[in-house]
Amino acid sequence: QKRKFDTLIEMHEKAATLYQHVLLKTKVGEPALDYLYQRGLTDEQIEHFGIGFAPTENSLLRRVFENDGYSEEMLAASGLMSQRDNGEFFDRFFGRIMFPIRNNQGKLVAFSGRLFDQYLLDQKKSPKYLNSPETEIFNKRQVLYNFHEARKVGRKENELVLFEGFMDVIAAYNAGIKNGVASMGTSLTSEQINTLQRTVSQVLVCYDGDNAGKEASFRAMNVINDHSALDISLVLLPERMDPDEFIQKYGPERFVNLLKNHRESPFTFKLEYYKQNKNLDNELDRLEYLETMVRELLSVNSVIEREVYIKQLADDFDVSVEAIQAEIQKGLTNQA
Ligand code: ATP
Ligand code: MN
Ligand code: MN
Ligand code: MN
Repeated sequence: QKRKFDTLIEMHEKAATLYQHVLLKTKVGEPALDYLYQRGLTDEQIEHFGIGFAPTENSLLRRVFENDGYSEEMLAASGLMSQRDNGEFFDRFFGRIMFPIRNNQGKLVAFSGRLFDQYLLDQKKSPKYLNSPETEIFNKRQVLYNFHEARKVGRKENELVLFEGFMDVIAAYNAGIKNGVASMGTSLTSEQINTLQRTVSQVLVCYDGDNAGKEASFRAMNVINDHSALDISLVLLPERMDPDEFIQKYGPERFVNLLKNHRESPFTFKLEYYKQNKNLDNELDRLEYLETMVRELLSVNSVIEREVYIKQLADDFDVSVEAIQAEIQKGLTNQA
């Protein structure tokens, strides 16, 4: 079984080499390379992340694999092939920019391919990103994009930065943030949290600034809290931008500054989060909101931190610190 594992990795390495060759050295790769340059990627980034291009012709990889004598069983097991009704294999990925996905030990186990042809995207004929299926070597729940590289810097700084997309990891890398990771287009799993926890004691959640990103931040924060003792801070991006877009628009220095100096605690995040869809001029909404926040305060363990938040809440809502403390006391008694 060890041998099969190694062979599958080897097939992925061959595919990555082929895809990168097509991107950098051939005519058919030019539009893809132009697209990447337009997005601000440098040759160094393309090299470092092993980005490539799978051409539109959908039997290139199959022919390479057949030429190298891989069995049909291996073709099927790789996740890199699709099969027609008559059993014939063809490449799973074609006409896509290819991002190699390494597992947490650094072995190449999967790909994600991005469609960049705006026409096809508008037609919604095919998803923007297509990932490898789960295989014997690829477990989506385990893998964190870029973890193998990020762990080195992460260990030193005792922190990893969690992004929504791997384009954000790649853009952040160029801005000097080299401890960025991303989950594979799914919400954060307990397996991934375990991996984070074995490496660092702090995570910074830096998801997209749109509503989906805010909701994802909220969920990530809760699931991290439920499964670990990790310290969490969050950064919210303005104007519905994602980290990649922010860096494109405002440059790397402002991004680094944002991550360094504009972090929020989970509590401050929730202070804003729970204001959504509430009219705080309305008495009932105000009360509901305050009750929610008092409930949140109950789970703040540090006494000092709690004091700070109580003051913040009291100031914001023109209620006395004592009243909030009394509510919390009531809550604590009920819990006991
Ligand atoms: P880009 O900047 O290239 O548009 P992104 O990283 O901003 O990409 P998002 O739309 O914010 O992409 O999605 C975040 C992550 O979710 C992606 O990195 C990808 O892993 C996943 N994802 C997005 N769209 C799809 C899709 N259609 N199918 C599968 N996964 C997807
Ligand atoms: Mn998004
Ligand atoms: Mn995004
Ligand atoms: Mn993006």
